[in-house]
Amino acid sequence: MARPFADLGERLAAREAAGLYRRRRVVDGVAAPLVRVDGRELLAFCSNDYLGLASDPRVVAALADGACRYGAGSGASHLVCGHGPAHHALEEELARFTGRERALLFGSGYAANLGIAAALLARGDIALQDRLNHASLLDGALLAGARLQRFRHNDADDLERRLARATPGRRVLVAVDGVFSMDGDEAPLARIAAACTAHGALLQVDDAHGFGVLGEHGGGTLQKHGIGVAGVPVLMATLGKALGVAGAFVAGSAELVETLIQSARTYIYTTAMPPALACAASASLRIVADEPWRRVQLQVLIERFRAGAAALGLPLPASASAIQPLLVGAADEAVRIAARLQELGLLVPAMRPPTVPAGQSRLRVTLSAAHSEAQVDRLLEALARAWPR
Ligand SMILES: *Cc1c(COP(=O)(O)O)cnc(C)c1O
Repeated sequence: MARPFADLGERLAAREAAGLYRRRRVVDGVAAPLVRVDGRELLAFCSNDYLGLASDPRVVAALADGACRYGAGSGASHLVCGHGPAHHALEEELARFTGRERALLFGSGYAANLGIAAALLARGDIALQDRLNHASLLDGALLAGARLQRFRHNDADDLERRLARATPGRRVLVAVDGVFSMDGDEAPLARIAAACTAHGALLQVDDAHGFGVLGEHGGGTLQKHGIGVAGVPVLMATLGKALGVAGAFVAGSAELVETLIQSARTYIYTTAMPPALACAASASLRIVADEPWRRVQLQVLIERFRAGAAALGLPLPASASAIQPLLVGAADEAVRIAARLQELGLLVPAMRPPTVPAGQSRLRVTLSAAHSEAQVDRLLEALARAWPR
């Protein structure tokens, strides 16, 4: 009999030949812009630590203090005996910050999106999602056995047509990213929310990349667009991006949160996040609220980068967020440019299928308030040399 899974090596080789092989590198250093890879210092433009909080001494101290008080781990799931005062306080702070009745912590954004779908959708219910949604939203709908339809990216008319055709009597959950993770553009939330209200569908926004960054107080994409809980009843965001920690939360009505506690399998059957992480996220949330200069600094850098990239004639799609993709097309070409940049001392990741659609490989530049203007200029100079002419 053949060795089980004997074709694994062949498949890996095929992936390599197609320029799609994924490789980890050991990146040493705090999440700050300067990191070490293979003993060499690189200036990184790839972290989602948009406000520079992952290495903020106050956040790090809160993590250390939390560990001293509560230990390294929570010991159990939230429903058994792992839900402590630090978790509870953070949930209350997040509810206040988002202006919602309640908030609920999850171990990760991936788990939160799977849990929301599992709790709200039954087999045969309808999940309508933007084509470019994060993989965890798609996976959630598939795992719940929902009928998944993907509408054209940021096309509220296409969504509206599909809503009008949805089977009467079936529940419909519409989900979109607030800021799209590979393109940096924002969902047209006002139009999407209006379409959902008109057709009796429930709207979920995954604001992983907007929370903390957008909106006057860092409330995210909803705050920027002036949309409340009536327009978007299900708000999900992560604590591992702008907040610089790890984990995620869902905020909404008390009814929604109770439903998740009862039925979200990724909430029930998993160990609660370490309480120290909740302490760190609380400290981070306070900084997000108290230090708007970080958002201002990020905007200054975004504008500087865009102006410089436009002057170089680089293919830069519209994006007002910290995510600034440079479209390349072919996967191997994106990898070559990333390698040239690395030779010049910069770390900018190439994003390839299936993370992005075929033929749309790109360099994904992410900016952070922790970058300086001089560092953005260095990136632009390196791009001028590394970009094929
Ligand atoms: C990062 C991300 C997630 C997953 O969050 P994790 O906490 O990293 O699991 C979900 N949705 C979007 C849009 C993301 O960018």
